[in-house]
Amino acid sequence: MKTNPARLEEVALPRRAQQRASGHPPPPAMALLGCAAGALDGLRALLIAVIGCGSIGGRIAVLLARMGLGGLLLVDPKSYKPASLPTHEIDPEDVGKSKAQAVARRCKAVSPATRVAAFPGPVEALDLAAMADASAVVMAPDLLSVEIEAGQRSLWLSKPLIHASVHGPTLTVQVRLFGNAGGAGACPRCLYGRAELDLLARQARFSCEGGPAAAAPRPHEAPATNSLGAICSMAASLGVLQILRHLLGLGEPVADTMLEYCGFTHRTVISPLERNPKCPSDHTRLGQAAVSEPLAGRSLAEAVQQATGVPAPPDAQFEIAGHDWVEFAGCGCERPAPVRRFIARGRADLGQCPRCGAMRVPLQFHTYRAVSAAILGAAIGRPLRRLGVRRAVSILLRTGDAGTLIRPQPANPSSP
Ligand SMILES: [Zn+2]
Ligand SMILES: [Zn+2]
Repeated sequence: MKTNPARLEEVALPRRAQQRASGHPPPPAMALLGCAAGALDGLRALLIAVIGCGSIGGRIAVLLARMGLGGLLLVDPKSYKPASLPTHEIDPEDVGKSKAQAVARRCKAVSPATRVAAFPGPVEALDLAAMADASAVVMAPDLLSVEIEAGQRSLWLSKPLIHASVHGPTLTVQVRLFGNAGGAGACPRCLYGRAELDLLARQARFSCEGGPAAAAPRPHEAPATNSLGAICSMAASLGVLQILRHLLGLGEPVADTMLEYCGFTHRTVISPLERNPKCPSDHTRLGQAAVSEPLAGRSLAEAVQQATGVPAPPDAQFEIAGHDWVEFAGCGCERPAPVRRFIARGRADLGQCPRCGAMRVPLQFHTYRAVSAAILGAAIGRPLRRLGVRRAVSILLRTGDAGTLIRPQPANPSSP
């Protein structure tokens, strides 16, 4: 089966708008209490990734663009529905459009000098290296599995993670800021109790969108959290303020805290976020190393040698972004056919079997996201290009408890 995997694409202004484009919007020319002049100028050097571009994340992205942020990376696999209208900042003609792409275009229009890239797919399918240059990660998804994935990636890459969410019926906003600085802090999964684990197992959605689905929840849906636009925009605004406070060092530190606002009382409460030692997420941080281009022209052995200065240890495991290692494929024949190369995930085109004529498909138990040096054997010394990798964005190397993200050079620090 062939699917069309989402692609990360930088957004450009339409030609006519390019002529009118005037760079960044003027920075808010205001004297912030206790700050030197130009306290907000630092935003032009920052890149922020936003996972989930709905009623909260979409607003956060636009607010950041209005302040002239350096770059935005917008991730959301979904499109607007008619039910999005009450809570999202959209017009009826936006229904049907990809959330990530529509928000990206709006951000670009607001701030032409901001580099804006959109990924209209699930965060799980986004190359980890695409997030490696971010100054911070914002998430406002409606699935616990996405929270866990964004939390895991932020831990690995030591990125501050801002999680903004609402609980509709109680008009409550929660903004959690995971500092991810020293490895001792909490991640989203550290805070999960039995209720979350239950909902996780059922893949429940916490949608802000109303409509018929919310009126009659199906068994796999969480209790409806369809919300008010006002509480979603409150969450976005509080989220942006926490981002500014953390990244620009305004006021008291906010790392590893949760800010709660309740619309019934207008009260805010700040509480610490604590690490759960039993958390199943991997709290180690990845090292990062660069090798010269083109990465696909190198063998894994060469890439490891150049990146780490030592040969790949025997327990090494490799993940090539967007690829699986396929050991065997099945067809109509009795015996599986050896493949032994990398296949781009979602584009498994192994061709027809010359004997039985059936399409070959990768066999699940012989397909690896992370492939060990032992399975690779001699292939560890062959250029990646000859192993089916046309364009390698990054290699995740794991040895023992440690991990290294290997990326091709030159890395443009402001590139989303
Ligand atoms: Zn954790
Ligand atoms: Zn066959």
